[in-house]
Amino acid sequence: MFVEPHINNRVERKAGWIEVICGSMFSGKTEELIRRLNRALIAEQKVEIFKPSIDKRYHEKDVVSHNSRAIRSTPVDFANDILLKAGNCDVVGIDEAQFFDNSLVEVCEKLSYSGKRVIVAGLDMDFEAKPFEPIPMLMGIAEYVTKVHAICATCGNIASFSFRLSDDTEKVKLGEKEAYQARCRTCYQEGMKQRFND
Ligand code: ZN
Repeated sequence: MFVEPHINNRVERKAGWIEVICGSMFSGKTEELIRRLNRALIAEQKVEIFKPSIDKRYHEKDVVSHNSRAIRSTPVDFANDILLKAGNCDVVGIDEAQFFDNSLVEVCEKLSYSGKRVIVAGLDMDFEAKPFEPIPMLMGIAEYVTKVHAICATCGNIASFSFRLSDDTEKVKLGEKEAYQARCRTCYQEGMKQRFND
């Protein structure tokens, strides 16, 4: 489990840092983000949470994970809005980060250089098992990367892939439970082969 670095000399430190929490659907990314943010809140740090306004699956202003533990958040249209709205907070959480464009990378860098702890959660691969930017780029520049895993819905092994159950090919399709399964590499590949043969 991720343990925060020692930050007792924080006042003298100029730069913050970047954490990435990534993985497939149903891997507990948002739960892990909420866990870290809750601990910061308990320590009375100022926390701001952002998510792309495209993600309207649940309540407009909450970061909600599938198990419904929620933290209030601000929906934004563009990554740059985060810079304007982050204010003087200590910790910035960003959920569903794969729905922002690559400008999120620079936004996270700026936030961290201004002394903030930035925690970004998002899908690292799309439904075609291709790297889903900007998460891979953020992984490259982050101090800490945590890849969380789901359980394969087909065989019970560790799962890293988001298998789309429909033949839909649009890249951005929000992750309702019915539309996807978490799958291991083998079961993902078998599913894709089957689809190709049909
Ligand atoms: Zn499997």
